[in-house]
Amino acid sequence: MHHFQYHQGILLAEEVDLRLIAEEVGTPTYIYSQATLQRHFEVFSSAFAGADHLVCYAVKANTSRAVMAQFAAAGGGADIVSGGELVRALQAGVPAQRIVYSGVGKTESEIAEALQAGILMFNLESSQELEVVNRVAGNLGVKAPVSFRVNPDVDAKTHPKITTGLAKNKFGLDMELAFEQYLAASAMDHLEIKGVSCHIGSQLTQVAPFHDALERLAKLIQRLRGRGMELSLLDMGGGLGITYDQEEPPTPREYAEALQETVNRLGLRLILEPGRVLVGNAGILLTRVLYTKSTPAKRFVVVDAGMNDLMRPTMYDSYHAILPVVQAAESRVMVADVVGPICETGDFLARDRELPELKRGDLVAVMSAGAYGFAMSSNYNSRPRAAEVMVAGQRWAVINQRETIEDLTRGESLPPWAG
Ligand SMILES: *Cc1c(COP(=O)(O)O)cnc(C)c1O
Repeated sequence: MHHFQYHQGILLAEEVDLRLIAEEVGTPTYIYSQATLQRHFEVFSSAFAGADHLVCYAVKANTSRAVMAQFAAAGGGADIVSGGELVRALQAGVPAQRIVYSGVGKTESEIAEALQAGILMFNLESSQELEVVNRVAGNLGVKAPVSFRVNPDVDAKTHPKITTGLAKNKFGLDMELAFEQYLAASAMDHLEIKGVSCHIGSQLTQVAPFHDALERLAKLIQRLRGRGMELSLLDMGGGLGITYDQEEPPTPREYAEALQETVNRLGLRLILEPGRVLVGNAGILLTRVLYTKSTPAKRFVVVDAGMNDLMRPTMYDSYHAILPVVQAAESRVMVADVVGPICETGDFLARDRELPELKRGDLVAVMSAGAYGFAMSSNYNSRPRAAEVMVAGQRWAVINQRETIEDLTRGESLPPWAG
């Protein structure tokens, strides 16, 4: 469910006419719906009402402070993967005690900063990282709260580039190694073992892989408890999918049902790290048609948003619905590729898509762009990154200004020996 709907032939963001935003802010622009964000958080969190739980929003999906602040106010925490995300989460008002830190490559200074902030837990991904975290905590005179990210070797049945829980993926430790590392960790002086973690992939459309992963983690937890280890947290990661096209992902309630019973039986506090399911359908990318053209083989609609703004179609072959902001009275249909201005054949937002006939100057909305949209955008081809706007009812505000060319060249200089 989201709040981007047509009213009298005009696509609105909640109650705001998208043409107005395009006029005042320009295009391309990301637009988020506050009511949709709020609803998604509530539906997700309340699905887990039957378990002691904490929703740690996966910040990397959409790092906007306005988005994070909203979830923090609703009682959420944050799942971070870098020192930059730590700073932004704290700035957004997420209490440190609700922050978990994931990722395979945390640096020593990032670890130190997170320890000083007093985060809830590090999800460790290697034996070397364990040594480093123990040493850094010792230097600071604190105990580092840790879990290991276990790689349960289950197939998430999603796109290979967002599958993370297979033995061949770089993430986590396999069951046996994890068991050994827990024993090693329990002998270290500057650690506090908190729990067990996993994250098996993204855009999952079935509950079975989550359930299978949990069953494997439960066995490990029982083995660890058999060795006298006290565990209090079980972090099941994120990954619940959304509808981009025809997908029918599990509802948050179905997802919760697959997990809650086991977690309660184990007497653990459940941590969830949803990203996409909270923000994906709460955002769109508003873009304008620059040109239309035809080759003997194809029709193309060239818009002013490119793969640097929305990388997902290029990177994951993902589908995003594309809707005209103004519905034509009698719409003739065409089949075309919607492409951006970037000098790459891979720069497309849609391929062989049936669309109403579009012409130069028309506005279109690229739907379901709230997750891994702006957050993955770049300056390739020296293109300033898009503006971001939040809408709430009739109100709207720029929450991130469009970059300027000056922003892009700041910090750049010639070497002193160049004439
Ligand atoms: C990316 C990521 C998430 C969020 O995944 P979604 O599919 O967006 O829910 C959660 N946890 C970790 C460790 C991640 O890397």
